[in-house]
Amino acid sequence: MKNLIVFGPPGAGKGTFSAIIQQILPNIVHISTGDILRKNIKKKTFLGLKAEEYMNRGELVPDQVVIDMIREKLKKPKVQKYGFILDGFPRTLDQAKALSDITKIDLFLLLEVPRDVIKKRILGRFSCSECGWLYNIYTLQPKEKIGKNKWICDNCGAEIEFQQRDDDTEETLEKRLDVYEENSKPIIIYYENKGILKRVYAQNTLDLSEEEIKEIIEVENTTSPSCLS
Ligand code: AMP
Repeated sequence: MKNLIVFGPPGAGKGTFSAIIQQILPNIVHISTGDILRKNIKKKTFLGLKAEEYMNRGELVPDQVVIDMIREKLKKPKVQKYGFILDGFPRTLDQAKALSDITKIDLFLLLEVPRDVIKKRILGRFSCSECGWLYNIYTLQPKEKIGKNKWICDNCGAEIEFQQRDDDTEETLEKRLDVYEENSKPIIIYYENKGILKRVYAQNTLDLSEEEIKEIIEVENTTSPSCLS
C-alpha cells in the first residue's frame, strides 16, 4: 500500500503521471480534487455551487471545503486497503498540515516542468467526456480522427471533440500559475523537511520506462532473473 502525493504546477502532467503509476499499481485510488469539484459543478451539488465561482476566477476553493471533501474520500475502504495518489491536494500549507492529521504520506513527488511547456500543455489539453482519458491537441491527439477537432477515444471508443476546460483560458492560467508560485514554496519545504520529497523532471513523463517509474515510487521489481530459478 502506498500513499502518494503528485504535486506540481497546473499543466505539469499530474493526471498523466498518476495514470502511469496506476498501470504499475492498478488498485491504487487516484483522487483528483479538481475532478471531484468539476463533477460537483456539473451535478449542481451544494459543494459544486460553493466551488464554481472560485474555480472560474482561477482562485483556490476555501481550505475547509476541500479538506472536508478529502477527509471523506480517504475513509473509503478501497483507499484504506490499497492507498492513494493525491492529485491537486494539498494546495496550501494548511491543507498539508490537515492532511498529516488525517493520514500518513509515503512520498511527495514534485513534478518540475518549464513554464513555456506548461502553457502549451494547458491550452491544448482536453479529455473524453465519457471516460476522462486525457489528450492534448498539440502533443497527444487520439489515434482516429473523424472530422475537424473530432476523434474516437482510444480508451473507450466514444466520439470526442476538442473542448477546453472552463478554467483553461490564457487569463485564468496566468492567475493559476501565480497562485501556484505563491502557495507551493512552503508546501515543498514542509515535505522536504519530512524527508519524503522526490523531484521528477517531468517534461515528458510518458517517456519514462516502467523501471524508472518503479524506482521513483519505490516499488520493487518482482521479476527475478530466470538464471536464478
Ligand atoms: P486542477 O484540476 O487541479 O487544476 O484544479 C482546478 C481548480 O479547482 C483550481 O484552480 C482550484 O480552483 C480548484 N481546486 C482544486 N484542488 C484544490 C485544492 N486542493 N484547494 C483549493 N482549490 C482547489
